Amino acid sequence: MDFTGNLFIGGDEVRGTAGTMKALNPATNAHIEPSFSLGGAAEVDRAARCADEAFDTYNATTLERRSSFLARIADGLEAIKEELAQRTSLETGLPIAQLEAEIIKSATVFRQFGALVRQGRFRQATIDPALPERQPRARMDHRMQKIALGPVAIFGASNFPIAYSVAGGDTASALAAGCPVILKAHNAHPGASELESRVILQAVKDAGLHSGVFSMVRGGGNEIGEALVDHPLIKAVTFTGSEAGGMALFQRAQQRSDPIPVFTEMTSVNPTFVLPAALAARGAGIGDGFAERMLVNVGQACLKPAILLAIAGAGFDELRNAMIARVQAMHARTMLTPAINVAYRKGVERRAGTGAKRIATGGDERGPWEGEAVLFQVEGAQLLDVPSLSEELFGPAALLVRLTDFGQMEEIAKQLRGQLSATMHIEPADYALAARLLPVLERRTGRIVVNAFSHPQEVSYASIHGGPFPATSDSRFTSVGMSAIERFLRPVCYQGFPDELLPEALRAANPAHVPRLIDGEVR
Ligand code: NAP
Repeated sequence: MDFTGNLFIGGDEVRGTAGTMKALNPATNAHIEPSFSLGGAAEVDRAARCADEAFDTYNATTLERRSSFLARIADGLEAIKEELAQRTSLETGLPIAQLEAEIIKSATVFRQFGALVRQGRFRQATIDPALPERQPRARMDHRMQKIALGPVAIFGASNFPIAYSVAGGDTASALAAGCPVILKAHNAHPGASELESRVILQAVKDAGLHSGVFSMVRGGGNEIGEALVDHPLIKAVTFTGSEAGGMALFQRAQQRSDPIPVFTEMTSVNPTFVLPAALAARGAGIGDGFAERMLVNVGQACLKPAILLAIAGAGFDELRNAMIARVQAMHARTMLTPAINVAYRKGVERRAGTGAKRIATGGDERGPWEGEAVLFQVEGAQLLDVPSLSEELFGPAALLVRLTDFGQMEEIAKQLRGQLSATMHIEPADYALAARLLPVLERRTGRIVVNAFSHPQEVSYASIHGGPFPATSDSRFTSVGMSAIERFLRPVCYQGFPDELLPEALRAANPAHVPRLIDGEVR
């Protein structure tokens, strides 16, 4: 593939007005050809106008047509799997096989959203028929369906360059809802972003859709992201990244004259609670499994299990030794970007300075931006005294916490900030304690896992990738799973309408056979 390095705005390839950049291969510290163009507020304005122009026709596409558009993107991604994985690997240091799996997962997600759209259930079509005889006042016919919010700005994440980036779940769910997308590509993988964008643009063309349905912009600093959040034609924003970045964008959006929703996914340590009977029965297996998952993606995953809490007693030493063995066997590996690697090294130093004991270290660094795996241990009382020990350390590090008793486990659980997930390892003899811990966890997390690990995340109807702040900025929604579409929808009620003027899903004939709630009953 010959890259043009252009921005893609409303079907046109555009040379940005803010200079150029090159991708960096973090494994060699060498820049990779070619140059990629950078844009700013002018390019955002053009993309937002194109998206706004596209909105009405795209939002009105039949469910069948929108569904096959999403399936075309899935086919397109699979068709460039090898090329996309190779380029992405150069830009991120992630292994090709892992990236190929990520591409297949993303393609599957586009197909899943295609199937969801075809069903039409996301419309939540609801009909309260007229009650002309009702006393003391007749009821008019009321019908409700959900429609798309409008053009959406999506910030691609650095750590999953496909599944949380240009052709990721945010894009799939926004397009499924009927929202045109302006994608702010992450500068850590510009080549991958161009390849993914081309797949989506080709699908827009093949499906005969308005060219403003998808644009991709890229910038050299905060200006472009700020312009996206500020633009009056943008109606929602999604973001995956740091707490500082997410909160800056969230607060900016609330200061607009017309505030808009900003769905940020920021930080989570996904605590793992090992209860006594499980610890005694399978401490070594739990320790090994935990350490294996904490090292996936060189620890650069929002669902990395980062803290394990267990009560001193039978099985504790086996668990600890298994964690140490797994971490020591891990070679240092290339991290996504120099900035992420530097932040990781500083975070490790900071943690060591708080009195946490380094109990295992992986193999030495050989490449420029490699991160060495580190396992720290603290006592429960230390964690209670220094709550910052439970903050995310993005990279291959984790914390083992030795507790005196279950009361301390409960106390620490209550002190934790909002999480994407929490895990309990339990045996039947632990059920009474687990039932005590459960309400504490429900208040702090969006997903509770039993006898497995938080990573990987399933993409299904019931899956939730969300949680109380600071895991996300809005705990009512998920960014992964089929209900991710709800972030981009809003309800509209049609009162007293003639059948001919009603949206298709609310007409008497219901031609697309959309499931509906009629007078409070599912039909
Ligand atoms: P980031 O710095 O938060 O940046 C994410 C995206 O948002 C980038 O496109 C960035 O643009 C943009 N951005 C950030 N702050 C902005 C602001 N104030 N105004 C406008 N745009 C802004 O995240 P990152 O680059 O992926 O990684 C940095 C750190 O974030 C990591 O070390 C890690 O701690 C955390 N992180 C966490 C997760 C997680 O899943 N928990 C995932 C990824 C990153 P520019 O690149 O142009 O600045």
